[in-house]
Amino acid sequence: MSAQQAVPDAVQDFQAFKDSLYKALISATNAANQISMEDYGFHRSLDMAYSKDLDQAGITSLSLGNTLLNHCALDCAVDVTEFEDENDVVDRYGSVIDVCDSLLEKADFCFDEMTGAGKSKEMKQTAPEITQIRAKGKLDLNLLHANNIIRPQLKFKDKIDNSNSTPFMRKIKYKPHALVPLDSNIESEDRSLPHPYKYEITHIEYPKQMFEIHDPEPYQPFDTTTATWVDNDETLKVMMDHLEDHEEIAVDLEHHNFRSYQGFTCLMQISTRDRDFIVDTLEIRDKLWQLNEYFANPNIVKVFHGADWDIQWLQRDFGLYVVNLFDTYFPTKVLNFPHHGLQYLLKKYCDFDTDKKYQLADWRIRPLPEEMLSYARSDTHFLLFIYDNLRNELLNNSTSADGNLVKFCLEKSQEVALRTYEKPVYDSVSGEGPVGWKNLLSKWKFALNTQQDAVFKALHSWRDHTARDEDESTRYVLPNHMLMTLVERMPTDSSGVIGCCNPCPPLVRMNAQALGYMILKAKMDALQVEKEEDAVMEDTTTATSKTANSSVTTAVHNDGAVTTTMDVQQVKRRMRHDEDPELFDLGRVKKQRLAIIEDPHWIKQKSDLFGDNW
Ligand code: AMP
Ligand code: MN
Ligand code: ZN
Repeated sequence: MSAQQAVPDAVQDFQAFKDSLYKALISATNAANQISMEDYGFHRSLDMAYSKDLDQAGITSLSLGNTLLNHCALDCAVDVTEFEDENDVVDRYGSVIDVCDSLLEKADFCFDEMTGAGKSKEMKQTAPEITQIRAKGKLDLNLLHANNIIRPQLKFKDKIDNSNSTPFMRKIKYKPHALVPLDSNIESEDRSLPHPYKYEITHIEYPKQMFEIHDPEPYQPFDTTTATWVDNDETLKVMMDHLEDHEEIAVDLEHHNFRSYQGFTCLMQISTRDRDFIVDTLEIRDKLWQLNEYFANPNIVKVFHGADWDIQWLQRDFGLYVVNLFDTYFPTKVLNFPHHGLQYLLKKYCDFDTDKKYQLADWRIRPLPEEMLSYARSDTHFLLFIYDNLRNELLNNSTSADGNLVKFCLEKSQEVALRTYEKPVYDSVSGEGPVGWKNLLSKWKFALNTQQDAVFKALHSWRDHTARDEDESTRYVLPNHMLMTLVERMPTDSSGVIGCCNPCPPLVRMNAQALGYMILKAKMDALQVEKEEDAVMEDTTTATSKTANSSVTTAVHNDGAVTTTMDVQQVKRRMRHDEDPELFDLGRVKKQRLAIIEDPHWIKQKSDLFGDNW
């Protein structure tokens, strides 16, 4: 054996530490291989001292191994009871593999996160080049799910609250253009807080010119103009000064919701007749409340196309509300256009081709590639000209002099402007609501047996809880099709869980062991319920005599009549297919359950990960 050398500090010089670690491992492995396993007994018999040394080395390595394993298992939700001798090590080597796998997965995940953060600078320089390798007709994958993006949420000044127990809190503190004061119960726990501009929206007096035919005002050429990028106080001031002088503005938002639970606005496009602005809403998210000066001003028409979501995003992210909304979607309905999208209107009135594939782009990318900027700008650049045309057509088609079709579209737009944002509620019992399990279950065409049903609800609830905790979308945590594969196969160990998901999402990989336990528990609980139900059934048929191994029961009644019925218990059992026969071994199941529940590591891990759900 080589003489002991000082170990380099891993933090100061990782490379040197790694080299020295490799060297030590290789020399230890070489030394261990000097004598083959079968020869140990022979050498022991030759030398008493050698035999004792070997015993001592065995005890030391076992204890070192146990310490290390227990230390790591704390992090991995793995049940590792002490190894008492080498037989234990051989018998339960699977636990060692589980711990190592889990640690390696975590290391892998952390490296990804770390290099993601490290690469973002690089990304800044290469982003515009991405645009040059665009595939025709399809969105470049780099733009669809961009990797290496630092989570923008990290720098938001407002804390993201995904908790299921607290309702969304309105952000508005100051109410310009108020006809009635902002109500004082803003901190109220009431989920249905009134819309702060409800009165103003429903009592608006629209500017007269909105009901008059005017020649459409031509738009600035698209190719020779550019947008102003608004991402600081100065540029925001420039934009606001510009808005002061305009009575019509076009607005649109771009949004991201894959790597976030509730989603967030990434971009706000605002166009007037002569200028385009693109606001980096990730950068100046906390300053945009000032825009209520214009958005809530009844004398400025805000033209949107399909504003349902935009209205809610504006409230949720910036506390902005729109008074005097004109949604160009409604004229396309009233005027019976063959299509109702903005793409159609752009082609019809401006002969402009737009590619809606960018809707799916990852709008968190910065700096924004040229083609995404151009797409975003085209969403508002022509919209006021389109509005002019639509308004004229509505007036031309109105049957009353006061423009009843314009009125109708404004009323519909009011309904949209009155929408309020609500945080999605998860009710694990009823399964109701847009994020509830009923939604997914109703789309599933196959029937679930009792155990699958329990597993489904447990996994669905875990997914929602994890997504809230990690601020990720549920489809990032565990996509629907993978969830249903897990439900179909009900794996109870980590490799089985990972095997159901391809490619395996990082959070599933990191929690594979815990998910296996959860599936096992759900199965066992469902089984328990079935057993109890069966026991009740049995009680009710005490006065019956049964033929062994038969599902047919013969009952002798007091009056001497004899009836024959099917034994519900056995029929039920026959109807359940896909059941794991091992789970009918109740003694074993109970033992496993107790072991899980009593294991302190397990309990600790649960409270971190599952909170109340467990
Ligand atoms: P748009 O109003 O068309 O600019 O869309 C605004 C945002 O809505 C986009 O940035 C997307 O986040 C989202 N979005 C719109 N259409 C779709 C779609 N078909 N699929 C997914 N997300 C969409
Ligand atoms: Mn839009
Ligand atoms: Zn858009």
